[in-house]
Parts: sequence; C-alpha cells; structure tokens
Amino acid sequence: MALFRRNEPDSPKNPLKTPTLPNRAYCRICRAEKVLTNCWRRNFPLKQCECCGLAFENPAALYGRSLPVCPKCEEFLEQPAFEYGTCDGCGSKFELVSGTLPGLLPNRAQREAMNKIGRMRSQS
Ligand SMILES: [Zn+2]
Ligand SMILES: [Zn+2]
Repeated sequence: MALFRRNEPDSPKNPLKTPTLPNRAYCRICRAEKVLTNCWRRNFPLKQCECCGLAFENPAALYGRSLPVCPKCEEFLEQPAFEYGTCDGCGSKFELVSGTLPGLLPNRAQREAMNKIGRMRSQS
C-alpha cells in the first residue's frame, strides 16, 4: 500500500505541520509571559491521536465539532490552519491566535488534574 502513496499529506512537499517562528505569550500554567520556541502550524487534520495513538476511523466526524477531541483519551486535536506552540517553561501546549490569549490544550496529566478538581467541586 505504501508504494502507491503519492501526494499524501505527510510527504515532504505537504508536511502535516510546518514549523513557525517562536512566540511570546502569557502561559497560565507558569502565570507569566513565556517564550514558546517550539511553534508550528497544523496543515492537515490528524489521522491518529498524538497522545494515545488511536487511529481515527472518521476524522471528518471528529473535526466536525467546534473542539475536536480524541474519542478515547480526550486529547485535544490540533486543527488545520491553526498555530500551536509549547511553553519553554512548563511544556504546556497552546493554540495561538493572534490578538487573543493563547488557549491551553491540556495534556493527559493536566486533564486528569482538572477532572479531579471538577469532581471535588461537584461533591461539595
Ligand atoms: Zn487519544
Ligand atoms: Zn508555561
């Protein structure tokens, strides 16, 4: 099958993501303005979860939602034409939209911590 892969999104001409210039942005985990050296633009929808490795049978259905997440581990999925970066201070991933505060895309550990807080709140 691999022999016939031409003009696939992950060929060198059409990389899945393109590195972009470093950004400075407010990191709400570090509670400070931080440099995000590692920045990139997503070019194509993900076919596979970058967190748990689940292959998506129907990425279009996932991306049809306003906030696509992995159906298995709830990892937030990067969306085409959006820019992302990771904080040099804590490694958190952010969605970078010029003119607004960067949106945190919590990783698995951060999501679990948030869920715990949510449960504690709902119990009280
Ligand atoms: Zn996943
Ligand atoms: Zn940070």
